[in-house]
Amino acid sequence: MSNSQKILIDKWGRQMDYLRIAVTDRCNLRCFYCMPAEGIDYLPKKELMTYEEILRATSLFRDLGVNKVRITGGEPFLRKGLINFLKELKTIKGLEKVHITTNGVLTAQYIEDLKRIGIDGVNLSIDSIDKENFKKITRRDEFDNVFSCLQKLIEADIHTKLNVVVMKGKNEHEIPAIAELAKHRNIHVRFIEEMPFNGSDYSTSDIWNHQQIIHSLESNFKTIERDITPKNDPATLYQIKGHEGKIGVIPAFSRTFCGTCNRIRMTALGTIKNCLYDDGVLDIKQLMRTGEKDESIKSELMRISMQKAQNGHQAEAARKNTKVIGESMSTIGG
Ligand code: SAM
Repeated sequence: MSNSQKILIDKWGRQMDYLRIAVTDRCNLRCFYCMPAEGIDYLPKKELMTYEEILRATSLFRDLGVNKVRITGGEPFLRKGLINFLKELKTIKGLEKVHITTNGVLTAQYIEDLKRIGIDGVNLSIDSIDKENFKKITRRDEFDNVFSCLQKLIEADIHTKLNVVVMKGKNEHEIPAIAELAKHRNIHVRFIEEMPFNGSDYSTSDIWNHQQIIHSLESNFKTIERDITPKNDPATLYQIKGHEGKIGVIPAFSRTFCGTCNRIRMTALGTIKNCLYDDGVLDIKQLMRTGEKDESIKSELMRISMQKAQNGHQAEAARKNTKVIGESMSTIGG
């Protein structure tokens, strides 16, 4: 096989060139839609991928055409040594973009480091701009830290996107006020449908879907218009006239964007997922710890990429381990 053929491609012709890596399953918030309030079984440390293993895996993915990674979790800033790890990641040649997703609780103190390292973008999760409501949703009193992190990211001129999960009866009334954050800030405010990854059983009847989100935006902002959406962006972008930033709507539960999916995921345990909704297709940590050579791991990655489901609905239907999704997003990384 020639080098040019060594890429991660699925049988639908989509190339996976974007790797999302969860570096921990631990979190310092307890967002009710993501994690149970108590009784969480964190993974034993020895079962987590080490930074060395993650770097090796990333280089293998890079060899197979991956050029962008996102570091996520759990909360990535809870893992010791994260800044040094990011520095190492940035030295991997051919990796064009390194992004991070964070809840912003501990992040502000690292913004100068992120800037120095040359981080390419930060996604900050913030589901409410009402201190009390934020506390109800996240079960922690951390709003001030998170909001001040947003201000500092902007001051540092780091490309910032906000992730806002919309939950029926919890924060849909805040959509207009949260959208206003993009009025004088050059950020993307992205409203995300809630997904069934809350670490327990789940009923999907209460989803506030993307059409309801768009309706709320259109009724509150008469000058809102569809904007050009970059290739592979799961968000449909909108522009409100006169606003510096943009609004995005992500149909994460309706899954209308799967046709252009370019993502592959690696959990903190080293489970490779072709799709957020599948139950894992390969244990890369196990391959590494049993001494598999680089070339054989790459062959495995190419083999499993061919198994990627056409869309998230099919991936969910084909789950073997758990027909009902009982995973928490904190182990997958979002
Ligand atoms: N701790 C970091 C953070 O809060 O951004 C990174 C990990 S978190 C799992 C990544 C993203 O997934 C966050 O924006 C979070 O709101 C989102 N998320 C978690 N559970 C979700 C769910 N059930 N439905 C939709 N989004 C979810």
